[in-house]
Amino acid sequence: MYRYINIYIRFDIIYCHLYPFENVFSYLYQNISAVERKCLDCGDVIHGRTDKKFCSDQCRNNYNNRLNRDTNNFVRNVHGLLRKNRRILADLYDEGKVKVHKDALFALGYNFTFFTHVIESSRGQKFHFCFEYGYREIGNDFLELQQNSRYLEYQ
Ligand SMILES: [Zn+2]
Repeated sequence: MYRYINIYIRFDIIYCHLYPFENVFSYLYQNISAVERKCLDCGDVIHGRTDKKFCSDQCRNNYNNRLNRDTNNFVRNVHGLLRKNRRILADLYDEGKVKVHKDALFALGYNFTFFTHVIESSRGQKFHFCFEYGYREIGNDFLELQQNSRYLEYQ
């Protein structure tokens, strides 16, 4: 009996100490639980298991589709830039223009950030390629174009 009383007294002491913070605890509890349990797609509060990330299958599908779409958009956009670069180099090369000024490429909308690969020749000449068309710097902002598709054979 004495033991029980002792426990009650102790509980009372703990409760007395914590009571002033009751509002703080309930505030924290509500906010933490709200933050942890919002649907990643629609933001609604999730009911049920605390490890759930989505409120419904529909929301999970939406979320994953959007992720895939963003990734696909990036790949598509980069691919578009590379194809545009290739088209510009190909047109110039096919017109017989082997030496061109960088500004000419800029004017045509060439994007120097994107290329598919870099080839360094045995003579130390470094070519940047967009698929089978490439260029190297030959000084004074001039470029020498090259067409070469044989590098694929070595892969
Ligand atoms: Zn949702």
